Amino acid sequence: MDRLRLGLLLALLLCHAPVWALSFSTVVIDAGHGGKDGGCVHNGLIEKKLCLDLALRLERLLKAKGLKVVMTRRTDTFVDLDDRAAIANRQRNAIFVSIHFNATRDRSVSGMEVFYRSASGKAVASKILRSMDLNLKGRNRGVIYQDLKVLRATRATAVLVEGGYLSNKTDASRCATIAHREEMAKAIVKGILASRS
Ligand code: ZN
Repeated sequence: MDRLRLGLLLALLLCHAPVWALSFSTVVIDAGHGGKDGGCVHNGLIEKKLCLDLALRLERLLKAKGLKVVMTRRTDTFVDLDDRAAIANRQRNAIFVSIHFNATRDRSVSGMEVFYRSASGKAVASKILRSMDLNLKGRNRGVIYQDLKVLRATRATAVLVEGGYLSNKTDASRCATIAHREEMAKAIVKGILASRS
């Protein structure tokens, strides 16, 4: 192959290099709510408890995969959004994954969704939600742009996972079980690993 053709080939490859190929060695796991802030309360479930439970499962699984994990909380304590972002902003080569469960007045609304507010965040959100969709029961509500403060204040690539609607009886009964939360943690970890370059 002559130099011109080689140059053209390289240029073509570079143009098609995926912009979402992220290299990170640390995952900041942000269990939503905590302490005085319970989050949503429906069908006998309190969001803050489910968030922490899922976050601790993620911590264990991610560490087993050799990643460094930083938690914004590990107990039932209140941490405000600026402090959560500040914890994330102290890390290098990190992504930020916030864990929540949703609720709405319309009890028929159900499913999993992942929020993002940057291009790299959208890529990670897509990988996580795809893995959740493949590995878990529940509706896939898609990845959604949200200008949330915790995503805005975090410099690293950031996403926010909504694991299901606690206001929906089917979602709530699934999320109430340890087995489902463990499977959800595994699915989220697969998605995180799939988004690494
Ligand atoms: Zn929440």
